Amino acid sequence: MKYHRILLKLSGEALMGQQQYGIDAERLMQYASEIKSVAATGVQVAVVIGGGNIYRGVQAEAFGLDRVQGDYMGMLATVINSMALQSALEKLEVSTRLLSGLTIQRVCEPYIRRRAVRHLEKGRVVIFGAGIGSPYFTTDSAASLRAIEIEADVVLKGTRVDGIYTADPEKDPTATRYHEITFDEVLNKNLNVMDMTAFTLCKENNLPIIVFDMNTPGNLQRLLDGESMGTLVSD
Ligand code: UDP
Repeated sequence: MKYHRILLKLSGEALMGQQQYGIDAERLMQYASEIKSVAATGVQVAVVIGGGNIYRGVQAEAFGLDRVQGDYMGMLATVINSMALQSALEKLEVSTRLLSGLTIQRVCEPYIRRRAVRHLEKGRVVIFGAGIGSPYFTTDSAASLRAIEIEADVVLKGTRVDGIYTADPEKDPTATRYHEITFDEVLNKNLNVMDMTAFTLCKENNLPIIVFDMNTPGNLQRLLDGESMGTLVSD
């Protein structure tokens, strides 16, 4: 097995499925069953899920509201998604723990690194909610930071596009996919993989990122089985 401990980043937006807002039950259960399959093979799985299907801090700014307040609202949105994913996993009889960057003690444990690692060692799927718990960050930054803290082998960024392209494949039909690319090339070519804070954290800590299509059922398992897919970003 190539990876022993992974950090899976799922976007909140992907959770909407065909809907305009909120959580699509079918998509949620698909994600849960994909996670169950890989966890069953003995891979330690940590998950960070975004909140863009419910709220983003920049939306508050657009309404003339306070950005910091908006960011906390966004963090709470990630907790809602994390709780939904936890519930879906539990429905499939997967043992999980939700650790939050904001203290919400009735529904989740506070994030404590050693505790997160212990849960993973016991085979529990660990979900990190509320991002890093600070405004002006994104859940991509939370994914990079938590992955480094728990010494994950890789960040798997599940998206609706199957990797990093020379141009936006949804706009430019001539765009081609990179199978592998270095951190420096991503910067030089100004490619959009993650926001700069998140990306820099991975680069400086030599943490590889794989961008892949999470919406095709079975892809996560195939990726971990060593099938070539998506784009690997590494040194
Ligand atoms: N957020 C934040 N700090 C964090 C993580 C998230 O302030 O550490 C807020 C921010 O407003 C962000 C929102 O939560 O826009 C939802 O997260 P994100 O946009 O990363 O979700 P995604 O795009 O993955 O759905």
